[in-house]
Amino acid sequence: MYIDGCDGTIDEADLCGLAESAESDAGSGAMIFRARELRLWAGCSEGTRCDLCKRDIALSAVEYEVEAEISDRPVRLHFHMACYLDWRKRRS
Ligand SMILES: [Zn+2]
Repeated sequence: MYIDGCDGTIDEADLCGLAESAESDAGSGAMIFRARELRLWAGCSEGTRCDLCKRDIALSAVEYEVEAEISDRPVRLHFHMACYLDWRKRRS
């Protein structure tokens, strides 16, 4: 799920796409390993949930945000630093 910025607006197209994908994978989380990485940002966490371990990223921690495509759908993934490295490893 991608929630844009701090104003609470939700990109409904992304939301629907992800809900579909998540369902077809039966919640295994495997779909994130099919993502094609386009861009990466690292910055202060805003309390986002990590897409790999599904735990919140602490406010004081560094959050890795990946702009990616899954089956040609744009998605944003958020990771702890360690989870990002693990994700890259498991993807290759
Ligand atoms: Zn994590």
